[in-house]
Amino acid sequence: MKCPVCGKGCIQPAREVLAGIEQRYPACSACAPEPNLDKTKGSKHLPKRVERCPSCGKATLDAVMLDALRLLQQFGLRDENDTLRSVGSPLIEVGYPLAYSPRLGPRSLILYGSGYSKKAAEAMVERIPEIKGVILNRGVAGIADMESRPLENLLLAGCDMRADISQSLFGEAVVYKRQSRIHIEFSRQSAPKMRILEQLYLQGKLRDVVDGLCGPGTLGLMCVLAGARRVVFNDAWLESVQNVLLNLEANRSLLGIDEIEYPESAKSEVGIEPVLVGRAHGACEIEVYHGDLRRLFSRAKPAGLCLIDHFPGAKTAEMEEACRCCNEAVII
Ligand SMILES: [Zn+2]
Ligand SMILES: [Zn+2]
Repeated sequence: MKCPVCGKGCIQPAREVLAGIEQRYPACSACAPEPNLDKTKGSKHLPKRVERCPSCGKATLDAVMLDALRLLQQFGLRDENDTLRSVGSPLIEVGYPLAYSPRLGPRSLILYGSGYSKKAAEAMVERIPEIKGVILNRGVAGIADMESRPLENLLLAGCDMRADISQSLFGEAVVYKRQSRIHIEFSRQSAPKMRILEQLYLQGKLRDVVDGLCGPGTLGLMCVLAGARRVVFNDAWLESVQNVLLNLEANRSLLGIDEIEYPESAKSEVGIEPVLVGRAHGACEIEVYHGDLRRLFSRAKPAGLCLIDHFPGAKTAEMEEACRCCNEAVII
């Protein structure tokens, strides 16, 4: 599958990603120990550079962040008192809860932060092999509510396609997201939303489910894995539903999908009237709508359960009202 952002092979089938995950980030037997650089000390107290492993070629996270700091200094965007932490947040290409600090290969890290210039970002992607993309942070990406304008962070250089591995008692899925346009959720072993979903599963409620504000589709995909007969995805943000379609394709064999169709095309970045942009058949009947949740049930059949995974602080009363036709609505 070609990456819709950079055209390269960023999108791998979920089965392949999961099969290789244990080998992705550990050190080899020749790797030097973690440098454990002080993240709170100005760069004048840090080494100039930390070498990559001569055997496997991988870098420690500190080595990559130090290279990025030195490069930002060359561009006059950091000074000698700035710390490693000032560089930004590192997002690994495939997010997975790790008990150790990852060793990084080529194009495996996306940097997310502020105080970058386009030129410096381009230089980071060109000169630091582990850096795949650089995103300028402008806030939480996506649509906070239907009354405000959607927010996007800015991809300054490289590619921002990455994935998180979602884990639950019913299995794992690989959730791709175009990270500058989808809000960031860190992979944690104690993912609270997944625990809520597991509770609903144990109560036998994940049979006919609407993932009402689905984002890239994490909860809905997990419902398919949990054996739901029907799952409806909906989001007003076009990037989200495009990510869902990509995720259905990438997780196709895990989800038991035989066929995916694209009946209608989205009309705008922010959807209002529901548009059926995707439909998949197989073990589970799947529909993907682009539109305002408050209008979804003018088209989609009501479900047994409607999940509402809203933005922190969003007003949910109207959404709950709109989902009254479903047997139950759960705010996550
Ligand atoms: Zn890409
Ligand atoms: Zn090594």
